[in-house]
Amino acid sequence: MDHRFRPVRIEQYANLIGNEAVERIERKARRLAGLRVVNVSSTFYGGGVAELLSSLTLLQQTLGVRADWRLIQGSPDFFSVTKKLHNALQGADIDLDDSKKEVYEGVVAQNAMRMDLTSDFVVVHDPQPLPLMRHFRRCGPWIWRCHVDLSQPHAGTWEYLSGFVAEYDATVLSLPEYARRLPIPQLFFMPAIDPFAPKNCELTDAQIDERLGKFGIPQDLPIVAQVSRFDRWKDPVGVIQAFKIARRQVDATLVLLGNVAADDPEGQSVFESLLANKEDRIIILTAEDSALVNALQRRAAVVLQKSLREGFGLTVTEAMWKGAAVIGGRCGGIVHQIEDGVSGFLVSSVQEAADRIVTLLRDRNLQRRLGAEARSRVTRQFLMSRLAEQYLDLYAAFQPRFHLHRGLDAELGVLMPQPPAGPI
Ligand code: UDP
Repeated sequence: MDHRFRPVRIEQYANLIGNEAVERIERKARRLAGLRVVNVSSTFYGGGVAELLSSLTLLQQTLGVRADWRLIQGSPDFFSVTKKLHNALQGADIDLDDSKKEVYEGVVAQNAMRMDLTSDFVVVHDPQPLPLMRHFRRCGPWIWRCHVDLSQPHAGTWEYLSGFVAEYDATVLSLPEYARRLPIPQLFFMPAIDPFAPKNCELTDAQIDERLGKFGIPQDLPIVAQVSRFDRWKDPVGVIQAFKIARRQVDATLVLLGNVAADDPEGQSVFESLLANKEDRIIILTAEDSALVNALQRRAAVVLQKSLREGFGLTVTEAMWKGAAVIGGRCGGIVHQIEDGVSGFLVSSVQEAADRIVTLLRDRNLQRRLGAEARSRVTRQFLMSRLAEQYLDLYAAFQPRFHLHRGLDAELGVLMPQPPAGPI
């Protein structure tokens, strides 16, 4: 392959995770050489799932696993229903009538007719393609990988969707707090970042200046930034309110950089609703530009991710990796990443976020201290090598093919099937 397009190989992680870990991962991969895995999700860009799969599938390929990635297609009304399902899984109230279920299940059935998912493993991501497994004769285990915050799902929606989930061979959730009462094994894999990707690789000061300059982001004052899909769960309004309170005491520029995922029909209207807040020092930008995300997270004095619900929050990991001082909403996966006051700050309100912005902007040393701790935490826990190894363990654990081999339960942290009585 042309060297410019060569994907990241596990050996490149040696400086970060050590030779021993690299060799262990290679050994595990050798035992699975040629295994075919197909992932199905609903968008190639915008959002954490696409970000994860872009790097993970390539790393798996270089390890000898034949990892494929397919998309389901759908009209705007399909994605409008699936976004409602996504919101309801995170706790929003919805009216899921029969016509919406018909659109949802009908479009997935049409996708199934066009797809060949012959493979040793099928991994279906999030609710959009969830009913797919009803349309295939299985050649191997089917896994449902759910990336959303399942801690308080809307009861009726969960009752409906869990009927599909129960037909899978196992489910992988991001955190143990998201476990539900299910008749199938549940595993917990926290997401991870690719430190070598354009979004996370080292940049020179000149490269950062160039990117920020290209998008007209001034650097005369410290930058406070949030990088997020335009989504109400990310609380962009709360970020603007917190910034406005903070700037009564400190001078800074706020940059809200966001994108709209192809499977998220609400994004555009959230973006447009924010535009009325634009000012000289409140910049609201939409761009699909990994190098800009990288530059902004590196140059910002403070990075916010003031989410109200957050399955995991890769933007937090990305900023922490860059040694940024991060303020995160006290929810979901963010609390597993930031130890409050050690590797960033956790906040539960607009006022708290404002106070932390002021504290950080007044104290460069504190920014550096939190940032250094954040970087080392990501190095220890949130690199793609760890996630790739967890998947290798998962594939190996399915012996015989459709059942998790009991001996490996403890190592993988599996929650084994629960009796079908009430939610846990
Ligand atoms: N992202 C991006 N550009 C943007 C906003 C977000 O590239 O303008 C990326 C971000 O860097 C991260 C992903 O989208 O890799 C968002 O993942 P996260 O887990 O934080 O949230 P999700 O969107 O999946 O809810």
